[in-house]
Amino acid sequence: MTATPETRVPIAGFVEKTPLERYAAPERPSLVGLSRAELADALGAVGVPEAQRRMRVGQIWNWLYVRGASGFDQMTSVSKELRAALAEKFTLARPDIVAEQVSVDGTRKWLLRLPGENVGRPHEVECVYIPETDRGTLCVSSQVGCTLNCSFCHTGTQRLVRNLTAGEIVGQVMVARDRLGDWPGGTPPEGAIVPTDGGRFVTNIVMMGMGEPLYNFEAVRDALLVVQDGDGIGISRRRITLSTSGVVPNIARAGAEIGTMLAISLHAVRDDLRNELVPLNRKYPIAELLDACRNYPGVSNARRITFEYVMLKDVNDSLDDARKLVKLLKGIPAKINLIPFNPWPGTRYECSDWEQIEKFSEYIFNAGYSSPVRTPRGRDILAACGQLKSATEKLSARERMALRAMAMTD
Ligand code: SAH
Ligand code: SF4
Repeated sequence: MTATPETRVPIAGFVEKTPLERYAAPERPSLVGLSRAELADALGAVGVPEAQRRMRVGQIWNWLYVRGASGFDQMTSVSKELRAALAEKFTLARPDIVAEQVSVDGTRKWLLRLPGENVGRPHEVECVYIPETDRGTLCVSSQVGCTLNCSFCHTGTQRLVRNLTAGEIVGQVMVARDRLGDWPGGTPPEGAIVPTDGGRFVTNIVMMGMGEPLYNFEAVRDALLVVQDGDGIGISRRRITLSTSGVVPNIARAGAEIGTMLAISLHAVRDDLRNELVPLNRKYPIAELLDACRNYPGVSNARRITFEYVMLKDVNDSLDDARKLVKLLKGIPAKINLIPFNPWPGTRYECSDWEQIEKFSEYIFNAGYSSPVRTPRGRDILAACGQLKSATEKLSARERMALRAMAMTD
């Protein structure tokens, strides 16, 4: 059973937003994000004989994903005639960058514009790059807005929902690599912070931007298969983490069809509280969610599931919660990621006191779990977890200032 509209039954207190708008393909679609089979079809559409398609797909794949070509004219190993024929029908376009912001800590956030269904009303999503010394993590969005409405999440308050296409998801990786100079022979922009180990700049992907990836299953799967492809972008599935609020039937599917690492937004250890924080829990309660985790293919001590736990003052941060958390996860190879709550204007929650976060973390650590507290990154540019909300529903200048001030206080 998948979470399709047909199988939805009303559940008190749980609302699934239905997409208000759809993707509207441009006149000349982009080849970015197509599977090899789709690319072969595109070649067929410009008259490439079937016997040649496989070889041509390999060439174009290499130009696109190994060398970062942004125009057909760069593909010098492809005949001029074919390049011209392709350019007539297709592009290699990535999402348009509306704005790029750089945090004092080197985090970069791009606001990206995607075609909307109505002329003059484009859709927008955000994509965030988080550099560390030995890795560079890209936080990628899967939807404009989010189907769900977790009470502590800013994206959840957004009304407009539209699923991104696979091309728009892969496009975020392309934009980041373009802007960071992360192609052979490229150099990062002046002053940019990137990993210093001499390797690539985008080494890890987390599906933790806007949206619930498992409510856009096919596009997320297709995009992540392109990103994993060893003859292309080549980011291994162990370096890709898909985060879900708990769409249980699609967790097994993700394991079978995508095979990346899994993160679960748990946030509460009791169903009554999780029903409030993550209303999807009313449909898929904690016990079912943890069963799906136990059965996730390939899970082992070397490949643990990450449990995300947002620290909300006096809501879920007592030592009793920590105790129950440890008990609940018994037997599941797990990592626990404590996330300090990032506030936004109008929220009823506060971030737990630092002392309490430390006590909570210590309890979990003593129970044998690595329990890193996720250092908020890019708070000054509103790039931290749960602060992403595209300008589709614009904040007033006053709200934006309040948001920044709140995010900067600790
Ligand atoms: N929809 C998916 C992935 C995107 S959210 C999911 O829910 O897992 C990425 C992470 O940020 C989730 O763990 C989410 O619970 C957390 N998050 C959302 N709002 C937050 C906030 N205001 N402060 C801290 N973390 C937040
Ligand atoms: Fe959607 Fe995740 Fe935010 Fe919940 S936490 S509203 S699932 S983006």
